[in-house]
Amino acid sequence: MRNDDPGAESDADAAPAHCSRTGCRVPATWALRWNNPRLHTPDRRKTWLACDEHRAYLADFLDRRGFLRATEPFTPPED
Ligand SMILES: [Zn+2]
Repeated sequence: MRNDDPGAESDADAAPAHCSRTGCRVPATWALRWNNPRLHTPDRRKTWLACDEHRAYLADFLDRRGFLRATEPFTPPED
């Protein structure tokens, strides 16, 4: 198991398309792109998905640590 994320574990391509906030199962509508310069090369991007309610919470969490690089709209893949 990798353990280099400060919180949620999911990458967009490896997890169901729901919010990364612990305990939240709401489908994601935002993708937060982030990078931890102590762990990642500068062009690396980790992704947290977020619902409307938790986008600000998760973005703030990352921004406080200087990790947040971009917030992008996210459209869940359709079955
Ligand atoms: Zn949420």
